[in-house]
Amino acid sequence: MEFQTKSATETESIGQQLAPLLLPGDLILLEGDLGAGKTTFTRGLAQALGVKRAIKSPTFTIIREYRDGRLPLFHMDLYRLEHSSAEDLGLEEYFEGNGVSIVEWPEFGQDVIPEQYLRIEIKRTGESDDGRRFKLTAFGQRPTELLRALKEHLVDES
Ligand code: ADP
Ligand code: MG
Repeated sequence: MEFQTKSATETESIGQQLAPLLLPGDLILLEGDLGAGKTTFTRGLAQALGVKRAIKSPTFTIIREYRDGRLPLFHMDLYRLEHSSAEDLGLEEYFEGNGVSIVEWPEFGQDVIPEQYLRIEIKRTGESDDGRRFKLTAFGQRPTELLRALKEHLVDES
């Protein structure tokens, strides 16, 4: 599934529309360069889960937990794991837990990332500073169901 957004607000809106479809244990991997919009997407998603705290990039903490929404949200940024091990941080416990995990820079945590996930690739379109192209790919049965539900949900909205 592919689509484009024209602003940060539109990207937040995609996150907002995915949020009500999420179930405990869902895992979303966000791939894209610095400034692509990974944290912006997560902000929209968190808001629609009912998280009241401000979403801050977990670049320096690696993980931030938000437990005041409909489901616990585990927001990870693995960029700084480049030279260390994800296993040492106990990230598996989050993936096995009953929350939703969102991972920026999953490339750096390949040794601990489970087999089933929804991958979201974000790229600049080149047409304007604010244009982004999204490509969503499901790996596994539950992510496939989630992606199908999102397609129907987005169609309903438009
Ligand atoms: P990342 O987490 O991928 O490094 P951020 O979400 O922190 O990126 O930053 C994205 C930046 O790009 C923000 O300043 C945001 O306002 C801006 N931006 C402009 N257009 C878009 C868009 N269409 N989608 C997401 N962010 C956008
Ligand atoms: Mg980020």
